[in-house]
Amino acid sequence: MNTLPATGCLGIDVGGTKTHGVLLDGQGRRLRESVRPTRPGPEGVIATIVEVVSDCVGREAEDLDPLMVGVGIPGQVDHRRGIVRTAVNLGISELDLGAQLSSAFGTRVRVDNDVKAAALGAAHFLGEGDGDLAYINFGTGVSAAAIVRGRLCRGEGNIAGEIGHFPVDPHAERCQCGQRGCIEVLAGGGRIAARLADLGPDLTLLNLARSADAGNLRAIAEADRVSTGIALAVQLMVIAHGSALVALGGGVVHVAPGLVARAKRLLDARAAHSPFLASLHLSERVTIVPVEYPVAVYGAALAGLDDSHAPESVLVG
Ligand SMILES: [Zn+2]
Repeated sequence: MNTLPATGCLGIDVGGTKTHGVLLDGQGRRLRESVRPTRPGPEGVIATIVEVVSDCVGREAEDLDPLMVGVGIPGQVDHRRGIVRTAVNLGISELDLGAQLSSAFGTRVRVDNDVKAAALGAAHFLGEGDGDLAYINFGTGVSAAAIVRGRLCRGEGNIAGEIGHFPVDPHAERCQCGQRGCIEVLAGGGRIAARLADLGPDLTLLNLARSADAGNLRAIAEADRVSTGIALAVQLMVIAHGSALVALGGGVVHVAPGLVARAKRLLDARAAHSPFLASLHLSERVTIVPVEYPVAVYGAALAGLDDSHAPESVLVG
């Protein structure tokens, strides 16, 4: 796992609504921080990043060498070339972000998918940097990243971890990806919000688990749907990667941790009928990343140090 350079590093997490930057010293302490609204489109995103970096370094963001800069951003990211594709929420179809920022800042800028970066951040905070950890983000959509023996599992085209589009329920609604019953249909925040809106004003994500525990039948049906999605995502990551720890983050689990508790009970109930599942102790591997851990922006800083970005690297991690 990467250790922080003595010169410090700068992490930028670009989200659909806000862009968060943090300047860390060599011990990982936060020196300066900035949050600004993300402006859409390629030029808007670059301008926002430049402003946030200027805030963090306290001057014009140029000639930052030898500061290491890492950027986490949604979408398909060619991390070796720093190219971002199909970041739909940001209005980007293709952008050579790494090259443009490297030129603007006069230093090396590494770009990674935001959830892969967040996995590095989660491993850092949970002390699993050299181990086997999966991070699953339940935000508007669902995606994941695995760290295997201290290295990110990337796969061809950096695609590994897009488990939100793994179909698990042939009877559920169709997904925006074209398949039916993807994990994201069950447990993605966007789909949950749409279903809750149809169920009426009394049920919200905040009270869903509590209402289900109190016996509200509509709440039980929806909470079970979401919890099934969470549980199967956990099972998928553990079976695929052998992750010792499965860290969960994102708005859905932070607003509604009771749904994670329900997912853990579901995993235990499934294990009661399967010696194989029982042997995996799935529910014991699950933890929610504390909301006060800024995993995304710390991870972006760590992604700036990740040597699997180097073009000559042949490591799969
Ligand atoms: Zn899908």
